Amino acid sequence: MEHIIIVGAGLVGSLLSVYLARAGFKVSVYERNSDPRQINLQSGRSINITLSERGFQALDAVGAGELVRELCIPVYGRIMHTQDDNLIYQPYGNNKEAIYSIGREDLNKALLSFAEKHENIEFSFNQKCIDIDLPTATLKSQNLKTGEITQVQADRIFAADGAYSPIRYKMQRLKRFNYSQEYLDQGYKEIMIPARDDSSWVLDKNAIHIWPRDNFMLIGFPNLDKSFTLSLHLPYEGDISHDSTASPDAFRNLFETYFPDIWSLVEPNLTDYFKKPVEAMITIKCFPWSYQDKVLLIGDSCHAIVPSYGQGANAGFENCQLLTKCIEQHTADWQTIFKEYETLRKPDMDALADLCLEHFTVLRKMVGDSKFLERTKIERKLQEMNSEFASLYYNISFTCMSYSEALRTERTHQDMISQIAENNMKWEIFVQPDRTSPSNMVSTRSS
Ligand SMILES: Cc1cc2nc3c(=O)[nH]c(=O)nc-3n(C[C@H](O)[C@H](O)[C@H](O)COP(=O)(O)OP(=O)(O)OC[C@H]3O[C@@H](n4cnc5c(N)ncnc54)[C@H](O)[C@@H]3O)c2cc1C
Repeated sequence: MEHIIIVGAGLVGSLLSVYLARAGFKVSVYERNSDPRQINLQSGRSINITLSERGFQALDAVGAGELVRELCIPVYGRIMHTQDDNLIYQPYGNNKEAIYSIGREDLNKALLSFAEKHENIEFSFNQKCIDIDLPTATLKSQNLKTGEITQVQADRIFAADGAYSPIRYKMQRLKRFNYSQEYLDQGYKEIMIPARDDSSWVLDKNAIHIWPRDNFMLIGFPNLDKSFTLSLHLPYEGDISHDSTASPDAFRNLFETYFPDIWSLVEPNLTDYFKKPVEAMITIKCFPWSYQDKVLLIGDSCHAIVPSYGQGANAGFENCQLLTKCIEQHTADWQTIFKEYETLRKPDMDALADLCLEHFTVLRKMVGDSKFLERTKIERKLQEMNSEFASLYYNISFTCMSYSEALRTERTHQDMISQIAENNMKWEIFVQPDRTSPSNMVSTRSS
């Protein structure tokens, strides 16, 4: 039986182990952290993930979907909290489509337990990859409890070791390896708001809550235990920034001025807030993702994106499925498997990375902007009139359309929406019989 090592037992590494075990390989997973099921959250961080259609499709394909669904809260839209205390609800779809909110830690634990049921998967925790010999697929790792260093050679190594991947770092030193990274000029800090004393929800549970304030924003995600995780996104420095709100008084002033409706819930829950670091958001692109037929980067290690569409894990899960299809098609020809996989997927992940950067600005600036809301209304109307006219958000979150295709479709739709919005058409929309392209499906005329 061929032996595969996966470095990283995060979200993608855990699911990938299942896919590879089911394909008949012996899988050893090396993870530098302790087993999250045996300890309390080490870092005090509690990132929420939203899972969508493509993520679930990849989970369902190996039978893990149901157990994950049980840990999720369905979210049907966003509620925007305006500064003058109004609430604006935007459903994600016209037919009660939902994305699903889950704690990243809970998801990771569930996937580890699911993976462990496969007898050809073995997890080694507290084992940090400290080096790799690419041509021989040899992993050098250190046990972080005992200090012992070991070397293991496998047939292949998959690097699911996240955005700061040491294996990618090694590949970056190879000739003709392209690499770019870009930090967002904003960072975020999280605040946990527990359920009320009578154990009711503090905010509407089936929505993501957003307080868009042009150059900064607050977002709230529901958790299964009826708590909410708030994520405060601010520039690092400047007038309104993490720097300028680092003291309790300045922080209170920020909330009383810009987020007054939530201050009474935030104030009692700031115990650790001022000690926590500001978390960064990074976009990473690189190519190739493979080294010969020996090593493959997968997940955030080769395509980290900013979380505005909530797609990093969804895309990573989808990638496990695509890779497995390539393995099935080309059996033991790993060079072809790796080449086909990375060539198919790279344009999609680049498209997604760019879309996420754009959408981050949309969430922060335009969700509360009247022009944006008007465009969204037009889009929704078009969608109501023709189910094939789907928004970009819809195609990304509720279909498995490739990200590149979603981007192309969006550009056509936006041209059409601009025509309607900018010409101030008293618009009348009617469906055309020719549905060969989105622009043929719907046309407009001014009256
Ligand atoms: C704030 C935020 C919100 C997000 N929201 C969403 C969302 O709503 N929906 C969504 O789909 N995605 C979301 N994401 C993205 C998602 O978290 C990532 O895309 C996903 O976790 C990537 O999985 P991964 O396994 O590739 O990397 P990771 O989850 O980072 O796992 C990498 C693993 O490798 C291990 N590792 C690293 N170095 C070594 C080493 N030297 N030796 C051994 N092990 C090592 C790490 O300990 C870790 O366990 C969000 C991300 C952030 C930061």
